[in-house]
Amino acid sequence: MAKVKKIIAGWIIDGTGGPVYEKTLLNIDNGKIKSITNTEQKDYYDHDTLNLSEYTIFPPLVDAHVHLAMSGTIKKKNREHQLNAGYDEIKHNISNHIYSCLSHGIMAVRDGGDHCGHSLKFKKNNSNFLKNPMIIHVAGKGWYREERYGSLVGQPVAKNESLADLILKEKYDDVQHIKIINSGLNSLNDYGKETAPQFNLLEMKEAVNAAKSLGLKVMVHANGKIPVKISVEAGCDSIEHGYFMGMKNLELMAKNNVSWIPTTTPMKAFLEQIGTSSNDGKIAGLNLKHQIKQMEFAREIGVNVVAGTDSGGFGVNHGVSLIEELKIFSKAGYKINETIRCATTNAYRLLEIDSFNSLSIGNRLNFIATKGSPAELPYSLNDCSIFNNDGFVKSPISALRYTPRHCDVR
Ligand SMILES: [Zn+2]
Repeated sequence: MAKVKKIIAGWIIDGTGGPVYEKTLLNIDNGKIKSITNTEQKDYYDHDTLNLSEYTIFPPLVDAHVHLAMSGTIKKKNREHQLNAGYDEIKHNISNHIYSCLSHGIMAVRDGGDHCGHSLKFKKNNSNFLKNPMIIHVAGKGWYREERYGSLVGQPVAKNESLADLILKEKYDDVQHIKIINSGLNSLNDYGKETAPQFNLLEMKEAVNAAKSLGLKVMVHANGKIPVKISVEAGCDSIEHGYFMGMKNLELMAKNNVSWIPTTTPMKAFLEQIGTSSNDGKIAGLNLKHQIKQMEFAREIGVNVVAGTDSGGFGVNHGVSLIEELKIFSKAGYKINETIRCATTNAYRLLEIDSFNSLSIGNRLNFIATKGSPAELPYSLNDCSIFNNDGFVKSPISALRYTPRHCDVR
């Protein structure tokens, strides 16, 4: 196929949070954006021009919190089964989950761990494929304090053991970040009830230093004021969930450049499954409302908020759930260009992905195209195309060197 030198795009959301450009012509030179100008012209038939005048284009999306080894099934038996299934079975599920992500414009994911380390093994075994088109950052197994919450996604730290020592002893080939669990789950019985931290400030500081000495980032599962405060003061890179962490913690995160992944979809999915006639459902709805308030504040003060779904959780399906997560951003007052920034450049910053950029002059070009105007987003992600900078050949999902295999968890 011929190399594309010009692209007519109906709308560009560049990923920086800047204004949406309408009716544009991009000139491409040597894989990079040379210029972006206005054009009224809609019909180009040159062999080197890609006509996307009916499409919105934006940089590749990231889901910054997933559990690839788990599906979003709501059947109790299936959830239990997949937790203990072997790698040979789970690898097919991981393939399917990656395919679902690509189908929704997600070209990078950050995995929050599984207690068998299957996602890490998958990454090791598929390193060639995963360089292109999908980037996967993994934690392997997370760490939690013995007898506390965390056995689903991690391995225990015994009471007499030091988390930092364990981190330093582990072999971390192919791993990009350490996952530490530093609180319990959100209560679905008592609204706003907080749990105690799993590790104290000194333990967390030592653990963060150990991770940094290995060149690894630290993602911390934390809900509630004290667990989040300890994690942020210890110097972690991101707070996952952060329900009921409070405004003071958000201010500290903005100051210390700690990213926040609010993962609202699990609450929403639970609410939809259970309904508000039960107490659990009511509390889930209130939790979600409170989280949206925190997101509004985070937007105002400029926290690096990053979109992440917690896919693999109850009712949270890979790929499609990012649409649900992005819908919540608009409820928290984010305009579509700001929402896309949270799922693109904010995420690139946290993951230190340098192969993707904003759609700005001088940058290499990788992008997603969805039919219609930005007003159709995020719903239009259900039908999107990926374009890579490998000669700017259009790559519909089906043409990618990738065949999903179906193997449902029984
Ligand atoms: Zn998670």
